[in-house]
Amino acid sequence: MSDRLTLHLVDTSPAPPAPGQRAPLRWRPLLSALLLAGFYALPWLRWDGRQALLFDLTARRFDLFGWTLWPQDVGLLLGLAAVLGAALVLLTNLAGRVWCGYGCPQTLWSRLFRWIEQGIARRVPSAGVARAIKHLAWMLVAAWTGITFVGFFSPIHGLVGASWPPAWSGWETFWVVFYAAATWGNAGFLREHVCRELCPYARLHGRFCDSDTPRMQYLARRGEPRGPRAPGLGGVEARGRGLLDPTSASDYAFRAAHEDIAGPMPHFSADRLGDCLDCGACVSVCPMALDVRAGPHADCIGCGDCQDACDARMRAAQFPIGLIQYTSVAAIQQRPARWLRPRTLAAAGTLLALLGIGLHHVS
Ligand code: SF4
Ligand code: SF4
Repeated sequence: MSDRLTLHLVDTSPAPPAPGQRAPLRWRPLLSALLLAGFYALPWLRWDGRQALLFDLTARRFDLFGWTLWPQDVGLLLGLAAVLGAALVLLTNLAGRVWCGYGCPQTLWSRLFRWIEQGIARRVPSAGVARAIKHLAWMLVAAWTGITFVGFFSPIHGLVGASWPPAWSGWETFWVVFYAAATWGNAGFLREHVCRELCPYARLHGRFCDSDTPRMQYLARRGEPRGPRAPGLGGVEARGRGLLDPTSASDYAFRAAHEDIAGPMPHFSADRLGDCLDCGACVSVCPMALDVRAGPHADCIGCGDCQDACDARMRAAQFPIGLIQYTSVAAIQQRPARWLRPRTLAAAGTLLALLGIGLHHVS
C-alpha cells in the first residue's frame, strides 16, 4: 500500500505546453466530471410531479421518467438487464474496455479521490495537515455519495432536508453508511485492487476481444530505443531516422522491460534514439501501476491517462503526438480492419435476438 501511495502522490499534472502552443482540452477528466455530476443530479430530477428515477422498494413501484413498472413487470427489468449485458459484450468487442476506462463507478470515484488527494498535496505544504484535510474531504464526498445512492431507492427529498437529525429508517441508515464506507474504501484505498482482484468483468473481458479490438499501445517502432536527450533534437521522422523494423523494436522494448534477465541496455547516441524520452510520465499516472511500453496488458482499463501524459511530453519536446495510441493489434501490424468477426457476430446476434424478444413482449 505504501508503494501505491507514493505512486499516487507523484504530480500527474500535464507538462506545460511548448512556447506558443495552447494546452489542449483534456476531455477525459471533463467526461468523468459530467458523469459524476449526472449521478449526483439524477435523483433530484422531477417528472410529472414525481421523482423521475426512483426504484421505490417500499411502495414496490419503479418510476423511470414517466414509465412506471410494478412487481409483475420484473421480467421486463430482467430483460432490460440482459440487453444491457449483451450490449456491453458487443461494445467491449468493438471498442475495448471503454466501460472500465470511462463509465465504471470504480474508475470515476477513484479519479475523483485521486484528484482531491493531489490537489490538496499541491496546495498544503504540511503532510500531516494535508492528510487530515484529504480524509475529511473524502469522507464528505463518500457520505454524499451514500445519500445519493439511497436516493434512487427512497425519495431523495425525504432523505435530505426534511429534518435534522434525519429521520431515516433502519435500512436507509444501513445503506447510506454501507455505500459511503464502500466508496471511501474502494476509491480511497483499494483502487486498482478492485479491478484486478474483485471485478468479474475484468476477468471475463478478454474473452470478448480479438486482434481487431482496440487497446492502449505504445508504438515501439517509433519510440525505441528510449532515452533522455538534450532538447532541440527532432523526432525520428524529422531527423530522418524513421521507424525501426518490428523485430528490433520489440527486442528493445522487451529488453528495457526485463533488464533483470536481458541485462542493461547499451548506450545509444542521441541520433539513434527513438521518440520515447524515458521520462516515466506514462507510468507514474497509470492507475493500474502498469508500464504501457511493456506491451498490452490484461489489467489495462484503457483509461487513456498514459496517452494524455505522453502527448503532453511530446508536445513539450515538439515531437508529433501519438507515441501511445488506442488502437488494435491488427492496425499496428497494418492489417486491414475486419468487421465480420466471429465474436462480433455472436454478440450482435444475441443483442438483436434479445431486442426482438423484448419488442415482441411489449407490443
Ligand atoms: S496503461 Fe494507460 S490506459 Fe492502461 S490503465 Fe494504465 S494509464 Fe490507463
Ligand atoms: S510518457 Fe511517452 S516519452 Fe515519457 S516514458 Fe512514457 S512513452 Fe516515453
